[in-house]
Amino acid sequence: MTIDVLVEINLNKKDKTFTYLVPDKFKEDISIGKRVLVPFGKQVLEGFILGIGNDKSIDLKEIIDVIDKEAILNKELIELGKKISEDTVSNLVSVYQSMLPKGYKASKKSTLKEKTVIYIKINAKNEVLDYIASTKSVKQKEVLEQLLVTDLPLKELNSSVNTLISKGLVSKYFKEEYRLKTDNVEHVVKELNKDQINAYNQIINSDKDIILLNGVTGSGKTEIYMSLIDKVLSLGKEAIMLVPEISLTPQIIDRFKSHFKEEIAILHSALSDGERYDEYKKILKKEVKIVVGARSAIFAPFTNIGIIIIDEEHSNTYKQDHNPRYSAIEVAFLRGKYHNAKVILGSATPTIESYARSKKGYYGLVELKKRANNAVLPIVNIVDMTKEIRKGNKLFSKELLLSIEDRLNKKEQILLLINKRGYSNYLMCENCGSVKKCPHCDITLTYHKTSDMNRCHYCGYAENNTNICPECKTNSLRQMGYGTEKVEEELIKLFPSIKTLRMDIDTTTKKGSHKEIINSFMNHEADALIGTQMIAKGLDFPLVTLVGVINADTILNLPDFRSCEKTYDLLSQVSGRAGRSNLPGKVIIQTYNPDNYAIKLSKTHNYEEYYNEEIKIRKKLYYPPYSFIALIKIGGKDFKETINESNKIGDYIRKKVKEEVVLGPSVGSVSKINNVYYFEIIIKYRNKELVIDLLNEIKILTENNKKIKVEFDINPNSF
Ligand code: ADP
Ligand code: ZN
Repeated sequence: MTIDVLVEINLNKKDKTFTYLVPDKFKEDISIGKRVLVPFGKQVLEGFILGIGNDKSIDLKEIIDVIDKEAILNKELIELGKKISEDTVSNLVSVYQSMLPKGYKASKKSTLKEKTVIYIKINAKNEVLDYIASTKSVKQKEVLEQLLVTDLPLKELNSSVNTLISKGLVSKYFKEEYRLKTDNVEHVVKELNKDQINAYNQIINSDKDIILLNGVTGSGKTEIYMSLIDKVLSLGKEAIMLVPEISLTPQIIDRFKSHFKEEIAILHSALSDGERYDEYKKILKKEVKIVVGARSAIFAPFTNIGIIIIDEEHSNTYKQDHNPRYSAIEVAFLRGKYHNAKVILGSATPTIESYARSKKGYYGLVELKKRANNAVLPIVNIVDMTKEIRKGNKLFSKELLLSIEDRLNKKEQILLLINKRGYSNYLMCENCGSVKKCPHCDITLTYHKTSDMNRCHYCGYAENNTNICPECKTNSLRQMGYGTEKVEEELIKLFPSIKTLRMDIDTTTKKGSHKEIINSFMNHEADALIGTQMIAKGLDFPLVTLVGVINADTILNLPDFRSCEKTYDLLSQVSGRAGRSNLPGKVIIQTYNPDNYAIKLSKTHNYEEYYNEEIKIRKKLYYPPYSFIALIKIGGKDFKETINESNKIGDYIRKKVKEEVVLGPSVGSVSKINNVYYFEIIIKYRNKELVIDLLNEIKILTENNKKIKVEFDINPNSF
């Protein structure tokens, strides 16, 4: 017997497998989709079995071991991986590796196992009852009475349990314990209101495979998701529910947990390897029927999927930002098709592409225009900061200050969004005007007050803070702009008695810290929560009646054709946090661009109105949905060589795709990261097949070129 193995190494021949001989002792264990250990040159590598045969060549090497007891990739996932590898122009083995949770990597095999716990149970109820009646030992009585109710872990019982074991009244046994613990939150299932029932029925009865559920924030989309999943479960099928970044939206998990109880597995990046291993095993062992998770949960090895729901479908976290750069939404379409399951895309602010497709009838469109529990959408005021600056109000406008004061008096809560972490934005020399940059990247450093360090948010470089300008050597470096830390500090200066919480990457690195902050704010232990984008999504705080956006222009100024769309999304999402219960909400948006359509239109909560503006611009500039976009990023340590190689690639592409628009090579949006120079080529195209084939060809052609590293990003999140 021989097997074809895809080894975990990037080879210049894309997706090439190697044939190995299977010694007799392993023959029984071999099946497609399992992993094996194989000798490869001088190394021992892990690989996936993709074929079984009977190759008679004489010089084949033997496999060393079979890693998995059960196939870890089923037939569907094996084929799916091949398609994704083509579509994203990436190595097949990297796609398969992305499909598996981290704890499943063979290198971790020795450390990760099921966790077992010793449990105690009573042997015979009657004997125990007799014993309780006769014994004088209070401690023994206590143990037995506890055990009469339920079996318990040994370590939770008092020491008299050993006596009881030796008397034969109780005994030990081993039980597998799942590591992930979630809070027990009561969520009362709401009876769907008329609009929700209507939406639910439209979804169930639609003849479309993909349906866009466009509902304003708080319209009760999550309740509809739960009803849809109930229905799917009643048909004996399984459900996948994706959320943008689950560690930021623990409230959704709580709601799902309390409704679906043990039926659910949770997968996201904030879990420990052990927790993730356990949750994944629940799926493989068919102990659960629902998985709620972030991007990679789309690969959950279910075999009978009835529905795939993607909440906040506009979120850019569904696209992986490193190789393989797959989109979980595209993967959902493929899996939906395979299982004949509906895919639901939910959002208050769908991507322009999704909305356009639903308008064209490629997707079904279901809309919810009102909030569910009779809450009204908040009033949004836009404040022109150019006028405020003249009055000396740099950070907080008059209106925002008055509103904060008012909420503090009323004991209501405040959310402040500032889309920049750290203390200041950048460091500029007041003497020579130069801006302090990272020595390894073409990016400005950010000052962090808590640690008194200047940090690069790209490569992690950090240096002690100093006021000496590296250019003119005078003592004139000053902090310009502001980040979350500074906003918090200024707020406390203005309102000394205010209690604040801050949520950004710096305050949430510790496991469970997101949740702590959210719970603390929920329990009204603080008046104001200050944060980056993290606070904008999915949170439901009934006491929040004021949302302030300190500076709405941060995204707007990025060189990205989606900058208006992202600005509109963020403003709508964060506005959606205000006035979610019976208290009316107000939103104050501070901006230097009050006339920009994305900012102006965030006032009315009318997505369609915004869409109509945006789509005109997309058409005029031949951007998606009118074209597809591919980004080719060429990086190299030598500046000149990198330009030369980039030009060669550009010329080759131009020759091959005469009909499409090819831009560049030009200097990357960040021209240097970690001492590597970057150039970019952009293709705006309509002929998908032609361009994807060409890029796969270029991948193979450039793989052996040691001077440069070429990366491909189909439909990039930003450029
Ligand atoms: P979305 O997911 O659209 O933002 P949610 O499902 O989170 O909306 O609902 C918003 C709020 O309205 C939540 O507090 C939820 O409990 C409440 N809600 C949703 N549906 C109903 C309903 N039918 N009756 C009463 N309250 C509801
Ligand atoms: Zn750097």
